[in-house]
Amino acid sequence: MDVVGRFAPSPTGRMHAGNIFASLVQWLVVKSRGGRIVLRIEDLDRDRSKTEFIEAIPRDYDRLGLLWDEGPVYQSDRDDIYAGYYDSLSEQGLLYPCFCTRADLLSASAPHRGEKTVYSGRCRDLDESARQKASESRKPAFRVRVPDAEYALDDGFQGSYTQNLVTDCGDFIIRRSDGGFAYQLAVVVDDGLQGITDIVRGVDLLCSTPQQLYLQDLFGFSHPRYWHVPLLVAKEGVRLSKRNRDASLDDMLAVLKSPEAVIGHIAWVTGLVGKYEPCTPEELLGSFDASRLRARWEGCIQIPWVSPEQATR
Ligand code: GLU
Repeated sequence: MDVVGRFAPSPTGRMHAGNIFASLVQWLVVKSRGGRIVLRIEDLDRDRSKTEFIEAIPRDYDRLGLLWDEGPVYQSDRDDIYAGYYDSLSEQGLLYPCFCTRADLLSASAPHRGEKTVYSGRCRDLDESARQKASESRKPAFRVRVPDAEYALDDGFQGSYTQNLVTDCGDFIIRRSDGGFAYQLAVVVDDGLQGITDIVRGVDLLCSTPQQLYLQDLFGFSHPRYWHVPLLVAKEGVRLSKRNRDASLDDMLAVLKSPEAVIGHIAWVTGLVGKYEPCTPEELLGSFDASRLRARWEGCIQIPWVSPEQATR
């Protein structure tokens, strides 16, 4: 079977070490098995996606030697496609309008396992007149009903992971109250239609995976294999963000001087290699061993970031 992976950045900021790390491992997982990569720009959130960030993505990947084979495909061009899948859920009676405000959601749903909040089901069984009344003051989001079922996966890096969709997740949003399609719907449709077989991404999305497996079943897509990598953290529990300038591609390039040195730095910080030296993604292929990484990363959710200044001091 063809191996197909994807780079799926959200253009809400410039690339930083965390994005580069996940993309590098995605590239290695796919290329070590002769596969291809689709570049998908996840610009679903029109307000937060900025043209300058969208334009920088292909340039940055190119510069780093993280070459893709198809695309870029833009989620913002695909509303008609998402609408078809949304309608199919609606026709099956699986969707309902949810009028909860952010404050309602926070007060009614208990944080669960520290991962995500479980929806209380507050709007699940509203009758028609209650819905009419609520829609006079508020535009609803739409949620999909989940069955009382366990969804499990054997993650390529994290090992086995299971959620009961009712008790660990709850009915989740498919369309936002502003009319935009939700990430969960768009990502499942795109992964399915683009034939993605292997998904590498940050472990923060592991808890979304059972939801995605469920939607894949509803749409008749097969389940891809998932590989969730640890997050790079500035300090315990705090993931790298745009505020950590020393982890931005531009700042790393300014200190380290070449794209190869940036790849070498990230490969060393994350334990992909033992030796601190510049290298290309291509050069990492020779020593890439997914089972060794699994042994190292199973249950590991964070890797402390080391800045280029610290490493080269
Ligand atoms: N667009 C998401 C991000 O940049 C990734 C979504 C995914 O890999 O499923 O974090």
